[in-house]
Amino acid sequence: MKVLVINAGSSSLKYQLIDMDTHGVVAKGLCERIGIDGSKLTHKNTAQKSETVFEKPMKDHSDAIAMVIDALVSPECGVIKSMDEIGAVGHRVVHGAETFADSCVIDDKVMDALRACVPLAPLHNPANIIGIEACAKLMPNTKQVGVFDTAFHQTMPEEAYMYALPYEMYKEHRIRKYGFHGTSHKFVSQEAAKFLGKPAEELKIITCHLGNGSSVSAVKNGKCVDTSMGFTPLDGVVMGTRCGSIDPAVVTYLVNNCDMTAAEVDSLMNKKSGVFGVSGVSSDFRDLSAAADEGNKRAELALKMFAYSVKKLIGAYAAAMGGVDAVVFTGGIGENDGANRKAITEGLEFMGISIDDAKNKIRGEVADISKDGATAKVLVIPTNEELMIALDTERLLK
Ligand code: ADP
Repeated sequence: MKVLVINAGSSSLKYQLIDMDTHGVVAKGLCERIGIDGSKLTHKNTAQKSETVFEKPMKDHSDAIAMVIDALVSPECGVIKSMDEIGAVGHRVVHGAETFADSCVIDDKVMDALRACVPLAPLHNPANIIGIEACAKLMPNTKQVGVFDTAFHQTMPEEAYMYALPYEMYKEHRIRKYGFHGTSHKFVSQEAAKFLGKPAEELKIITCHLGNGSSVSAVKNGKCVDTSMGFTPLDGVVMGTRCGSIDPAVVTYLVNNCDMTAAEVDSLMNKKSGVFGVSGVSSDFRDLSAAADEGNKRAELALKMFAYSVKKLIGAYAAAMGGVDAVVFTGGIGENDGANRKAITEGLEFMGISIDDAKNKIRGEVADISKDGATAKVLVIPTNEELMIALDTERLLK
């Protein structure tokens, strides 16, 4: 069976066609500028090692998905003879609130529940819903599955997910910690258990998904018990352009004293803060490392703040779980940036965490980088959210 994985954004749509026998990507691509002048589809055929660009107006996501299907069945650059070869479609959905603790097959009731989640993720869920509607229209006989960024975190106990606000804020406004990147945390924690040759049910794993957006999760006995992102993806670790955890009173201070509107504070904290805001250089960690190497003190400070914020969470989550068997690094930074992995784990020897400098040179592949004899393993595991979505989709069809 082949599963089509769709990740729909407001003006873009990424897709992968995955063969469930081999778990290989048969084709993948990206639709850009949907609903905007200059729309294009870039389609990659894995076997041919070819890339084909289609420049054609896409007025909405239905047009985009129709073009994706045309590309997939095209005699020149396609990979299947007909749409019938697509067994199911798996959709990434950002927010599932408390309604979705697992992925699910989409029907009318689910669509209503998805719409009810829109206020919690107004920038993301509407595009995800449009993507599902467009696929359902063009492929009415193919099952659609929703896979939620928040679902894996629904196992957190209430003392971890509640905020100490008046209880009505939770009951009436659904304000609590939800957590994000769940598909990635789930995938790498499961892969870590496989790599270690132990059942996930017997392991305490701390997963560090470090990319433009970063989050850390505590996964005990295969279930998430805490995670660093919160009501929104703004909380937790210092990120590329997001501030992570700060005193919430900074918000009211900026509104009351610095002539800023709520929308301006929101933009400041989401788009102009993080390592970018501190360094004034870039949100890209490669640029930051280069600047720090050239003696830029603020770039150096930003990198130190990032590593420190991740390190503190590792300590906190070991405390939450009563120990740690493995720390997993994933995401663009976690998979590739040995200097950051080193900075994050330095000083954690007292917890049995210690990196081997030679092994830490690894990039983008599964590896155990811990020192021989260290009691906690440090692993690098490239994430694969698309494969996780496809696997969940396949599981739900069975
Ligand atoms: P996103 O959250 O957008 O999916 P990614 O997981 O792709 O982000 O991570 C992007 C980050 O990974 C960038 O800050 C980039 O600098 C960093 N990164 C990618 N490759 C490397 C590398 N070789 N060395 C250091 N950082 C890297």
